[in-house]
Amino acid sequence: MPARRDTDPAELGARLVAGDRRALARAITLVESRRVADQEAAEKLLLAILPQTGRAVRLGISGTPGVGKSSFIERFGLLLTGQGKKVAVLAIDPSSQLSGGSILGDKTRMEKLARDPNAFIRPTPAGAALGGVARRTREAMLLTEAAGFDVVLIETVGVGQSETTVAGMVDMFLLLLAPGGGDDLQGIKRGIMELADLVIINKADGDLLPKARLAAADYRMALQLMRPRHAEWKPQVQLASALLNEGIAEIWTTIGMYRAALEKTGTWQAQRSRQAEHWLMQELQDGLMEVLLRNEAVARELPKLQKAVGAGKTTPSAAARRLLGMLGH
Ligand code: GDP
Repeated sequence: MPARRDTDPAELGARLVAGDRRALARAITLVESRRVADQEAAEKLLLAILPQTGRAVRLGISGTPGVGKSSFIERFGLLLTGQGKKVAVLAIDPSSQLSGGSILGDKTRMEKLARDPNAFIRPTPAGAALGGVARRTREAMLLTEAAGFDVVLIETVGVGQSETTVAGMVDMFLLLLAPGGGDDLQGIKRGIMELADLVIINKADGDLLPKARLAAADYRMALQLMRPRHAEWKPQVQLASALLNEGIAEIWTTIGMYRAALEKTGTWQAQRSRQAEHWLMQELQDGLMEVLLRNEAVARELPKLQKAVGAGKTTPSAAARRLLGMLGH
């Protein structure tokens, strides 16, 4: 059967690289699809555009709901599009699995940016597990890069695991906090702090300004006691106000300094290579799991063995070995 015109990978890839936004949206839908034919087309498309990827600055940004993520991203995005840059915002939102809808990357949250012809905002597809969302987001990131976007922002909400996932696919990880929002030092998990290359204290305005200054001092102290992710970069803490549009340009300057520091030593590229290698292993794990669960004998035996393990009649390792042994039979 001939491929539908709008899913022909070669043609779609060419339109996407030429900067056609509808082709980009269609391509992302393709990588999100669970249909086998779409998945094959998506794989061909990704291979075709791979040489055009890698040129964007990949940023991760996280913060609990209410800290001002959408307000901040709107200001930050508009600053960059104002400089003639193209900005993509993608979201990893495992909570959408529960709510059935996405609270991140929602276009109504960033109204001006959503209308900007140099911006592209894509919410998380609902109903997928973190692993699935993460894989599609990474592929969507590659697609936006091939479509000529200069900055890709991957947004996530502070629930722990999704931060680690995002940090594993970006060049720099930004943590957005607000003073007095319960996000004090005790409230924020140490593991998330350790991922941050830049901590931004938003809402540093009006009555909240003194609190914001105090919070910044606390975080600077805390970061000094942690092992930095990169030898050439000490994580920074900066104040910002998305409301008043203050401190936003300074953050872009810091991102530039970070990039220069990591590029000088080769870490920028080394980190990307390491991340790509990690994703290969992740894909292998996911793929093997799929192969395993599609195997008829495994599908038949798995529930029985699960019960047996639960009842203490066999060990998880023995049961796993038995199931793995059924592969290839
Ligand atoms: P999100 O849930 O993290 O995306 O947060 P929002 O961007 O929706 O902002 C949550 C609330 O904080 C809204 O009422 C915003 O108006 C407010 N807000 C966002 N940024 C600032 C800021 O810089 N200063 C102040 N005072 N309020 C802000």
